[in-house]
Amino acid sequence: MNNLNDINIAAQCIKDGKLVAFPTDTVYGLGANALNPLAVAKIFELKERPSFDPLIIHISNIQQLEILILTTDERIYKLAEKFWPGPLTMVLPKSRIVPDIVTSGLSTVGIRMPDNDIALELICKSECPIAAPSANKFGRISPTTAAHVKKQLPNIDYILDGGKTKVGIESTIIKLTEFGFQILRNGIITKEELEKIIPFDGNLKIEKISAPGMLKSHYSPNKMFFIANNATLKLGKSRAGLISFSGELEKGFRKVIKISERKDLKDYAVNMFEAMHTFEDDNEIEIIIAEPVYENGIGKAIMDRLRKAEFTWLQK
Ligand code: AMP
Ligand code: MG
Repeated sequence: MNNLNDINIAAQCIKDGKLVAFPTDTVYGLGANALNPLAVAKIFELKERPSFDPLIIHISNIQQLEILILTTDERIYKLAEKFWPGPLTMVLPKSRIVPDIVTSGLSTVGIRMPDNDIALELICKSECPIAAPSANKFGRISPTTAAHVKKQLPNIDYILDGGKTKVGIESTIIKLTEFGFQILRNGIITKEELEKIIPFDGNLKIEKISAPGMLKSHYSPNKMFFIANNATLKLGKSRAGLISFSGELEKGFRKVIKISERKDLKDYAVNMFEAMHTFEDDNEIEIIIAEPVYENGIGKAIMDRLRKAEFTWLQK
C-alpha cells in the first residue's frame, strides 16, 4: 500500500475498479464505483459482508441522484436541501443503472451526500457515485480514524487519511412512505429534526429487511462488551475498562475513558467507536463496560449501537 494521501491516486483506483477507504462525516467508508458490479463485489469480499446486506451509495451533487432513482418526489429535494451534505440516507426506488449487487436485489437504493470535503472531492474526481459501507470487517466496530481501518483491513488498495470523523456514528436511514418518513436506522439526525420538514409516519410497520443495520448484533468489539447495569458492574472492575459519560460509575475500574468532558451526547456519538477500539487494543483490559444514556434524541442512536455491540456477548 502506498502512503501518499493523494485524492487523484485514490480516484484513479476507483476508476480502475479498486477499493479505497475514505473519511466521511460519519465513519470511514470502504468505497468502490457503485456502477461497477465487479468492483462492488470486492467490498463484500474484503469486508466478509453477507450479500443480503445492501450498500449505501454516496454522491457529491444532486444531478447524480437523478440517474440513480426513479422518482421525482419533491419531498426528497426538501430533505436534501435541509440535510445534505450530511448524515442522512434516503432509501428510494432505484433506477436500472444501479447494479443488483449494491442493493442486494432490493428495488430500492440507499443514497446520501456526505459532509466531508475529502469524500466529496473523491466522488467528484472518480466521476461516479461511490458505494461504501463502513470500512471494517463485517459485524465489528466501525472505524473513525484511518488507523482503525488499517487495523481491520490491512490489504486495502488505498486509504485516504482525513483525521478523526466528526459525527462518529453511521447515518440516520429513512424511507419515504405515502404519508411521511419512517426511520430504518437511528443516527445523529433525529426524528424531531426530520419532522420539521416532513411528517413522521408511525402508522405502518417497518418492512422487515435482512440487513445488519437492522440485525440485533453489530458493531461488536472482540472482547467482552456490556452496557453497565447492576449485573455487569459486578463482573470484575479491576479487569474492566469503563466508557464513562456521567462520571458517576468510575470507581474501581482498571481504566476509564471519559467520553465527554461537557456531558454532551454528541460527544458520546463522536467518541464511542474510538473508545471501543482503544479498549479492544489494550492488553490490560479484558472487559469493556459502557455507560447507558437516556433514549431521547441522539441517545436513541447511541443506545442502538451499544445494544448491538453487546448482543453477542449476552448470548455467551
Ligand atoms: P452501512 O453502510 O454498513 O452503514 O449499512 C448500510 C445499511 O443501510 C444496511 O445495513 C441497511 O440497513 C441500510 N440499507 C441500505 N440500502 C437499503 C435499502 N435499499 N433498503 C433498506 N435499507 C437499506
Ligand atoms: Mg457498517
